[in-house]
Order: sequence, then structure tokens, then C-alpha cells
Amino acid sequence: MENIRIVLVETSHGGNIGAVARAMKNMCLEELALVQPKQFPTEEAMARASGADDILHEASIHHSLDEAVADCVLVVGTSARLRSVSWPQLNPRECAELVMQRSATGKVALVFGRERTGLTNAELERCNYLVNIPANPDYSSLNLGMAVQVISYELMMQSQQGRQPVTEDRDLAKAGDMQGLFRHLEQALEDIGFLDPRKSDKLMRRLKRLFYRAEPDLDELKILRGILSAAQGRKSARRE
Ligand code: SAH
Repeated sequence: MENIRIVLVETSHGGNIGAVARAMKNMCLEELALVQPKQFPTEEAMARASGADDILHEASIHHSLDEAVADCVLVVGTSARLRSVSWPQLNPRECAELVMQRSATGKVALVFGRERTGLTNAELERCNYLVNIPANPDYSSLNLGMAVQVISYELMMQSQQGRQPVTEDRDLAKAGDMQGLFRHLEQALEDIGFLDPRKSDKLMRRLKRLFYRAEPDLDELKILRGILSAAQGRKSARRE
């Protein structure tokens, strides 16, 4: 459980951050990362944390989602509405299984969105998978603290199943490495005249999905970047 990080993006209410800390501590999670919180720290956050204030004191604060998840081998985004999104999806139980496996090899992030608007499409596309808590289709949006509670409860249940089989002994690329690959890929495709920068979004989304599905390791990423550099007419891989 110590490799699992809960990431909250631009939370508006300090009280919700406190409720998240409490939900986390109840379920043996410790690591909280806040991306541009609107109010933090606040008295309300401390009050709602009710005894889980150690998690608030140790929370890290970040300027961007990229920064908060750069070192993670798996990033899972949560969303109240997923039907129209064409990204790999998990239910909370499948999510817990995968997260517990991957957290045996490195840091894993579970990302939660803004109270009113959730996560943006760009943020969802930074995730390897998306998870949705099944709910009333006409009223599917849970309070942030409640959503964290449900997801962490599944993690807790999964962790009690005993030792997780380690299915990955490769050195998986981290979120920051993948963003580097995507920037390089987009630039290389533009350089070789394959991509029209004005219409690049759809193609890049498809390619990102493909590379996330492949779960490349660091050696494979190096090869890919070498190929891109060669296609660009450069001898060695450029640094982003
Ligand atoms: N109107 C927003 C709701 C945001 S609720 C939307 O449609 O996305 C705030 C956050 O709580 C969400 O970004 C998500 O992280 C989490 N959340 C709420 N309900 C959820 C659900 N049913 N499944 C998964 N996450 C949920």
C-alpha cells in the first residue's frame, strides 16, 4: 500500500481534502499529492481529517498533474462519466487488482478530479486506465471523499487477499518517460511531414492509447526514441 499515491487535482474545498485524508488513513493509504488546491491548508481540512492530519501535513503540493505522477509506473484516472470516452477502462475491483500488482514494482497514482468538473480530457489521456464507480446513471457523481473511500476500500480488500503475484519484472516506463516519448513522437511525425499540427489531436490520442497498451519498458522506450531521432535525421536521441 505504501507505493500507492492518491492525487487530487484542483480541489476547491479544503473540507473535501480532509475527508480524503480520513478515507485514506482508514484504508491504510498514506501518500497524498495535491495539484494546485484552491484552499489548503485550512481549518476545515484539519477538522474533517479528524485524526488523519498526519496525511495532510505530509501531503505534497504540485503545479501540474504531470509533475505529481512523473515517477509512477501506472496512472489510473477516475471519472463519474465514462461512456463516451474511448480509453481503457476498469471497474474498481479490476483497478484494485492491477494497482496492487503494479505497486509491487513501483509507484502507482490514482487521480481524482475537481468537485464540479472532474478531470479534463487532456488529464484523462495522461492515465494508463480510467476507472468508474458504478452508480445511478442519472446521478453518478459521488462526493470526492466518498469516491476515494470506495476506491481505497477495494485496494484494502485486495491487499488482504495475501501476497500479490509480481507479473512485471521489467523496468516499466514511468509517466514522465511516456510524456517525453509522446512529445518526441509528435515532433518527429511533424518533422517527417506525416502529421498536420492543426489536426494532430485525434491521431496522437490513438497513438498514446497504443503505446499505453503496449506498456513499454525503459529499454524499449530508448529504442523507440532512437528510431524517432533517426527518422528526424539526428544521430542521438534528443532530450525532449
Ligand atoms: N461532474 C464531475 C463530477 C466530479 S466529482 C464529472 O462528471 O466528472 C469529483 C471527483 O470524484 C471526480 O473527478 C472523480 O475523481 C470522483 N468521482 C465521483 N464520482 C465518481 C464515480 N462514479 N466514479 C469514479 N470517480 C468518481
